[in-house]
Amino acid sequence: MKIAVIGLGGTGSAALRFLAQSGHNAVGYEQFHIGHAHGSSHGESRIIRYTYPDVLYTQMMSDSYKLWFDLEKEAEEELFIRCGGLYFGDKNDRDVLATEQALIDSNLPYERLNAEQVKEKHPAFHLYPHEIAIFQKDSGFLRATRCVEANVRLAKKYGAIVHENTKVQEVYTRDNKTFVRSNSGEEEYDRVIVTAGPWMSSLFKSLDLPLVTTRQQIVYLNINDHNEYFQANGTFPVWIDSTDNLYGFPNDGQITGIKLAYHHCGEVISDLGAERAPVDESYIEEIRGYAKKRFPNLGSDVTYSQTCVYTNTPNADFIIDRVPNQSNVFLVSGCSGHGFKFTVLLGKIISMMATDDNGYKRDLSRFKISNFL
Ligand SMILES: Cc1cc2nc3c(=O)[nH]c(=O)nc-3n(C[C@H](O)[C@H](O)[C@H](O)COP(=O)(O)OP(=O)(O)OC[C@H]3O[C@@H](n4cnc5c(N)ncnc54)[C@H](O)[C@@H]3O)c2cc1C
Repeated sequence: MKIAVIGLGGTGSAALRFLAQSGHNAVGYEQFHIGHAHGSSHGESRIIRYTYPDVLYTQMMSDSYKLWFDLEKEAEEELFIRCGGLYFGDKNDRDVLATEQALIDSNLPYERLNAEQVKEKHPAFHLYPHEIAIFQKDSGFLRATRCVEANVRLAKKYGAIVHENTKVQEVYTRDNKTFVRSNSGEEEYDRVIVTAGPWMSSLFKSLDLPLVTTRQQIVYLNINDHNEYFQANGTFPVWIDSTDNLYGFPNDGQITGIKLAYHHCGEVISDLGAERAPVDESYIEEIRGYAKKRFPNLGSDVTYSQTCVYTNTPNADFIIDRVPNQSNVFLVSGCSGHGFKFTVLLGKIISMMATDDNGYKRDLSRFKISNFL
């Protein structure tokens, strides 16, 4: 089949690779260059983990992990750093307890640690006596930009055509034929997959999807002393503070310092084309305040900072479905700030849907468009 993939971030790049690998005539469109920093899939690190307070996501991660290992193998480069992960918070925090339960239900190994045990194993962390942590050894981080680049490189190797710097203006169906109109012309396709991230609503205005795009900020702080406490060799795991809603990484080996961020949604972006303001001073102050109590060996100097976009659905569930009234068009959207670890799986699922392959056996009914309209 001749299949277009619109938007080559994490999800689209994976879909393109799977389609080309299966022998389809796959054509990718990306409005910027591959690996650009205007969307959601750029940077040195995205957390990968089984630890979810929701067993469906924990179980889907079993499928996703396998696909990341395959990508690493095919790409012949290190894309996944397995350094373990801590999911912590107040001992009564609902999400910490639900995360533990999801691991039990999925038969996955973990350790429940108190504040002292965390200090012993991971000396950079300061937890309070009323807090607990779930340690899961398979957590770590993905090198996001490199994952996208690897998918596209392999897709091309398997025969895909990639149009970079090519913005798609419209996807439409007429007389049962589906067309993609871009700034380089119009082309007919058997099937079209749209993985446009924050730009999804502009391509499907009439669907009126309840997507909200928000400006997110990340900050790297310098390590003051005990550099060895912050390394990705198991000493410093990726972490999520469920109660205060922050997350962070060990030193990623590329950028000086340690990356931390708030997970809660930032300000709403009304114009995706407008230049994005740099990270706010007030945000940096909040991060410094948090780091001071949680990581006593961190300094307060910002070594790097960056902004990025979340595309949020009201309940943070993804949308994975065929588009109503356009039976040859499929979309994935609403990754809601936690989608990167799934992008390889989402690319696989949507490429299967678009090629009439019903082989994915998990129940995806939660991700149907009708739940969001
Ligand atoms: C600061 C930050 C931290 C995050 N941390 C994590 C984490 O630790 N773990 C995790 O799992 N997830 C994390 N996420 C979420 C994750 O990065 C995103 O969910 C994921 O990258 C979304 O991928 P995507 O392919 O859906 O969208 P995108 O990466 O935005 O890709 C969409 C692509 O479509 C292109 N496009 C759009 N419209 C058009 C058009 N009309 N024509 C041509 N091309 C078009 C865009 O240019 C873009 O390249 C984080 C996100 C942010 C912003």
